[in-house]
Amino acid sequence: MRNLIVVLGDQLNRDSAAFDGFDPEQDAIWMAEVTGESTHVPSHKERTAVFLTAMRHFRDARRAEGFTVHYRELESGTLDGHLAADQRKLRPRATLCVQPGEYRLQEALRPLVTRFLPDRHFLSTPEEFAMHARGRKQLRLEYFYREMRRRYGVLIDDGEPTGGAWNFDTENRGSFPRSGPPLFRRQAADLVQIAPADPLRRKVERAIEANLPHNPGQLGAVPWPATPAEAERALATFIERYLPTFGLYQDAMWTGEPFLFHSLLSSSLNLKLLDPRQVIRAAEEAFRAGHAPLAAVEGFIRQILGWREYVRGIYWLYMPEYATRNALDAHEPLPEFFWTGETEMTCLRETIRQTLEYGYAHHIQRLMVTGLFALLYGVEPRAIHEWYLAVYVDAVEWVELPNTIGMSQFADGGVMASKPYAATGKYIERMSNYCRSCRFDPAESIGEQACPFTTLYWDFLLRHEEKLTQVGRMDLQLRNLNRLPADRRSAIHAQAAAVRQGALRASR
Ligand code: FAD
Ligand code: SF4
Repeated sequence: MRNLIVVLGDQLNRDSAAFDGFDPEQDAIWMAEVTGESTHVPSHKERTAVFLTAMRHFRDARRAEGFTVHYRELESGTLDGHLAADQRKLRPRATLCVQPGEYRLQEALRPLVTRFLPDRHFLSTPEEFAMHARGRKQLRLEYFYREMRRRYGVLIDDGEPTGGAWNFDTENRGSFPRSGPPLFRRQAADLVQIAPADPLRRKVERAIEANLPHNPGQLGAVPWPATPAEAERALATFIERYLPTFGLYQDAMWTGEPFLFHSLLSSSLNLKLLDPRQVIRAAEEAFRAGHAPLAAVEGFIRQILGWREYVRGIYWLYMPEYATRNALDAHEPLPEFFWTGETEMTCLRETIRQTLEYGYAHHIQRLMVTGLFALLYGVEPRAIHEWYLAVYVDAVEWVELPNTIGMSQFADGGVMASKPYAATGKYIERMSNYCRSCRFDPAESIGEQACPFTTLYWDFLLRHEEKLTQVGRMDLQLRNLNRLPADRRSAIHAQAAAVRQGALRASR
C-alpha cells in the first residue's frame, strides 16, 4: 500500500486535500468509530449518532466509487490505538490525514501520521490568521470580517460594502411581541425534510444504546443531516423559509420554540457535509434575488464568514495554553442541573431540556442563559467547557472552546470579547417570555422572589470590581455598582451565597 488516508468524523468532504491524487489501486481510506471519542467528555447520544451515521454514509459512498475503506464500527478504545494496530497490519508507506480540528487529536495522531494536509474547508488558514493578529494590540471580529468580505467579494459592490455599511445590527436582534413568534410552531421534522427511516441510522442508534447507555441526551428527536444531499436540503429549507426573518429575531427566545429562525446548519458545516462557500453564496443570492433583506443576509453571512473563521483562528493561535485560562479565577463546580434541566429557573430549564432533547440550543441561549449563569455563578471554565463540548450536536473543540472560554466566560482575559457578557435577569426578560412563567422576578436581587441571575450579577460585579475597572467598557455597570449602599451589598452577598447553596442542594 502506498498511502493510508485517515478520515476523521468531522472531515467528510470529498473535495478535501486527502483525496488529491488518490489512486484506488495503491491507496486506501482508514476510518474508525471509537467509544473514547464519546467518553473523554460524555458526549450527547445524538451528537455521537450524527457523527457515526454521517461517517457510515461517507464510507458507503467511497466504496461505491471503488475505493478501499478500512472501517471499524463502534469499538472501545482510542483512535490512535486502533490506527497503530492497523498500520502494523496494513504496512502503508505513508499515512496522511487532513489537519485535525482538535489539538488533543492532532497530538495523539502526530506520531502515527507521516504528513498533515491543509484543511481547505475553511476560508482562512491558521497561518493567515496569525498574520492578521501580528502587531495588533487587540483582536476584534470586525476588522477580520471586513478583510474576509473584501477578500472573497461577498456583499461587495464596486469595492464598497453592499448597502453602504458593513453591519446592519441596528435592524436585527429584536424581541417578539407579547403574542410570540409570528409563525406556526416550527417542528423538528420540518427542519431538514429528510426521509425519517434511514436503516443505517437505526443501526447506529442501537450501537450507541448498547455501548454508551449512560451518556446524556435523547436519540432521534431531530433528523439532523448525515449526507451532503440531506445537508443541501436543509440549507434550501432555511434559505426559502427562515432566512428572511433570521436577523430580526436572531437573539430572541421563546418557550417551546427551540429552533425559531435559525439555520440549524452548524453540525452539517462542522462535519463538512456543507461547504461554507456554498452556504454564503446561497444567502447572498437570496438577497440579490429580492427574497431576503440585506440586514438578515449580512447578519447570517457574518456568522459564517466572520465568527466561524475568527474563532478557529483564535483557537489555533493560542492552543494548547488557551484551554487552561481562568482570568476570573473561577472555581465553582458545574451545578448538577446542567445535566438534567431540573431547576426552578424557567430560562435554564427550557434551554437545558431542549439541549438534552435535541442536542441544540441557539447562540443566545448558549451565551446569555447557560453561559451567563455559569459566568455569574463562577463555574470553573474547564467544567463548563467540557459541558458545551459534550451536549451539542455541532460540538467540536476548535469552535466550542473560544466561544466558551473567550466569549461566554471571559476566562481568556479579553482576547475574544472586549468585556464580559454580564447581565441581570432583565436581559432575559427583554429577549424572551421565560420570566412570565418563572417563580422569580428579574427585577429583584434580594428577597424570596429574587432572580438568581440578578443576584449573581451584582455579586459578580462586587467580586470582580477591581479586575473589571481595568477592562474598560464596564464604566456604566461599575458606576451603578458604586451607587449601592453598604447594607445592600452585604444583603446581595448573603443572597448569592444562598443561591449557591440552593444550586448545590438541587445538585444532590
Ligand atoms: P445560526 O444562528 O443559524 O448561525 C449560522 C451559522 O453561523 C452556524 O451554523 C455556525 O456555523 C455559525 N456561527 C454562528 N455563531 C457562531 C459563533 N459564535 N462561532 C462560530 N460559528 C458561529 N458552534 C458550533 O458550531 N459548535 C460549538 O461547539 C459551539 N459551541 C458554542 C458554545 C458557546 C458557549 C457559545 C456561546 C456558542 C457556541 N457555538 C458553537 C456558536 C453558535 O452558538 C452555534 O454555531 C449556533 O448556535 C448553531 O446553530 P445554527 O446552526 O442554527 O446557527
Ligand atoms: Fe430566568 Fe430570572 Fe427570568 Fe426566572 S426570572 S426566567 S431565573 S431570568
